[in-house]
Amino acid sequence: MNDCVFCRIAAGEAPAAKVYEDDTLCAFLDIRPIARGHTLVIPKRHAAELAELDAELGAQLFRAGHRLALAIRRSSLAADGANLVLNDGAAANQTVPHVHLHVVPRQHRDMLRLAKGFLLRRPHDPVSTAAAIREGIAAVDEAGKSPGKHVDG
Ligand code: AMP
Ligand code: ZN
Repeated sequence: MNDCVFCRIAAGEAPAAKVYEDDTLCAFLDIRPIARGHTLVIPKRHAAELAELDAELGAQLFRAGHRLALAIRRSSLAADGANLVLNDGAAANQTVPHVHLHVVPRQHRDMLRLAKGFLLRRPHDPVSTAAAIREGIAAVDEAGKSPGKHVDG
């Protein structure tokens, strides 16, 4: 195994509060969240930057981000919206060289709270937060609205 922390999370060899996983992707809470429920979606196969990422995998990554954005609205986090952000390359402030899509829950008029979150980047009870997001994903799936629905086999 390489020394990439996100590869180790994907392989279950490093701790993370996972909210979603399939054969090709996983999603887990950011360890220094900007807002409660700030989640990262990654391809399990290592790609440092978009230039190394298979285009179909990139599409799957966005589909999972799309699904998460719906899930956090339906979850008890009750987000009003989300920022989906991908920092590609050190020039774009990418600090972990394994492609990841940020999904940051937003509320109406949350600018002050968001500014505080940017400064503090403190975890918000990861166990209950991850559980809430998993419930949101289940609710989206149940409603048949899941753009990233993964069918095994
Ligand atoms: P970026 O600036 O787009 O590369 O963001 C990297 C993100 O990864 C930051 O928001 C970090 O807080 C987050 N991060 C770094 N290490 C871990 C980890 N072990 N588990 C979860 N999130 C992490
Ligand atoms: Zn990696």
